[in-house]
Amino acid sequence: MSTFLEHRLRQTKIVATLGPASSSKAMIRSLFEAGADVFRLNFSHGTADEHRARMKSIREIEQELGRPIAVLADLQGPKLRLGVFENDEISLTIGQTFRLELNGTLGDEAHAPLPHPEIFAAIKRGSELLLDDGKVRLRVGECGQDFAVTIVEAGHKLSSRKGVNVPHAVLPLSPLTVKDRIDLEIALELGADWIALSFVQRPEDIIEARNLVRGRAAVLAKLEKPSAIKFLTPIIDLADGVMVARGDLGVEMPPEDVPRTQKRILREARRFGKPVIVATQMLESMIGSPTPTRAEASDVAGAVYDGADAVMLSAETASGEYPYESVVIMDRIIRRTQEDAHEFGGLVNEKPSVQHTPPDAITVAACQIADTVAASAIITYTTSGSTTLRAARERPSMPIMGLTPVLATARRLALSFGVHAVHTEDVQSFKDMVDKATRLAVRDHIARVGDRVVITAGVPFGTPGSTNILRIAEIPDS
Ligand code: PGA
Ligand code: MN
Repeated sequence: MSTFLEHRLRQTKIVATLGPASSSKAMIRSLFEAGADVFRLNFSHGTADEHRARMKSIREIEQELGRPIAVLADLQGPKLRLGVFENDEISLTIGQTFRLELNGTLGDEAHAPLPHPEIFAAIKRGSELLLDDGKVRLRVGECGQDFAVTIVEAGHKLSSRKGVNVPHAVLPLSPLTVKDRIDLEIALELGADWIALSFVQRPEDIIEARNLVRGRAAVLAKLEKPSAIKFLTPIIDLADGVMVARGDLGVEMPPEDVPRTQKRILREARRFGKPVIVATQMLESMIGSPTPTRAEASDVAGAVYDGADAVMLSAETASGEYPYESVVIMDRIIRRTQEDAHEFGGLVNEKPSVQHTPPDAITVAACQIADTVAASAIITYTTSGSTTLRAARERPSMPIMGLTPVLATARRLALSFGVHAVHTEDVQSFKDMVDKATRLAVRDHIARVGDRVVITAGVPFGTPGSTNILRIAEIPDS
């Protein structure tokens, strides 16, 4: 039997969404012990009290097990929806006309209210509208500031409050709705480590969110709109991390474009050394079945081979019948794939370009030296987490320990590839630095007596952003 600490040698992290199927403290604890590194609180569902109760359990488990846990608060964002229909459901016929009205009365077979002026302002003759996750496609004909006459091109059914996507338009919408602003304050008050922004469209969206978050959490951009892909580089540059949000992305662009977009995002995020999550439908069939499909196992493995920082479970853990089994299987697929990837020359063969600051130079060298001397771990002393992230960017084959006096840093790092963060006091001397690093590596089953480790730190000790020394140490007989 492996212990939960041995799971931590798994390098690709697991994000598990909490929901009705995973709200008891016992279930959250068993998901953590099975391998979940980050818990997602999905503000599209549930009440503030439900999120508060889950957060309380997570922080208690953190105390009980002595390991930092990251909490990602996911804001709903400007999800556009149809208004309400008179009856439960209407049927559509391909080729029929269907009218959308800004101030429409209750919907029926011929028309529906669409209470979003931005949509009417953005569409023109020929525009495409996708409804209900793309199941219904409408083509716009005549249209104005408060109406659009459309032709039904695909789909047979429609009902109240179904989602509406406008694939190719950049809508003048803030990524933070009134609800999001309220939820954001709740999430920060609860002490969330990461805030995820849904339907980001432009780099300015990240700046707007940052001004509200004011350093109280890290900011993660969910990439689920073609316009976000258009501005991919500046968005990654401004955010602290990103998510390949394949659910909505796959509605906004054809399915055949999703895999290459995923690869492109992974490459670009890694170039910046920012954590990237691959999300949605990873083990979808496990919502109702105790085993995954072969295609799903392959999908998880693909994200690992491509060097993702994390893979995510949504309904599988939030509302499915097998939340625990989903994490267990995901952990197994990742560990088996990781073994193979390292045996055959690393996870990704293109090395990112190097920046020229001393901390960068030291950190890249540490990873090379760790390889050359077959070190068991790279141990980084860090305040903000930046040198630890820099090491993760190299995707080394051995674990990276991030030792930090800042609890928020330790928690945030739980999302990053290969990082085992430990919250611990700063050191005062070279001797302290080596003693503490080697002691913690043994304590957490990362190295054994006689193993080598590579340590980086900054002198004078305790100065943030000063990584300038590198030490190879052997684990002493204690
Ligand atoms: P969601 O985001 O689950 O909040 O919609 C993820 C996605 O769209 O893939
Ligand atoms: Mn989404």
